[in-house]
Amino acid sequence: MATKIKRAVKERRTKRKPCSFCAERAIAVNYRDVGRLKKFVSERGKIVPRRISGNCAKHQRMLTTAVKRARLIAFLPFVSE
Ligand SMILES: [Zn+2]
Repeated sequence: MATKIKRAVKERRTKRKPCSFCAERAIAVNYRDVGRLKKFVSERGKIVPRRISGNCAKHQRMLTTAVKRARLIAFLPFVSE
């Protein structure tokens, strides 16, 4: 019984989205690239987590700093309703 549940979880996780920044071989995430950053921000202005966006750890880290920078200079909203 327990093993059955475990397997179901594993199968769901096997298909990982490739990191879109790695696919482009991006070295850094530019905070001025608002159109790009908007894809990784939810409707309410929150940063989309890695497990959903599919980004790798390295690029997700860069993305969060980029989004935060973009917010400070008002390229992106802190909250939007
Ligand atoms: Zn990456």
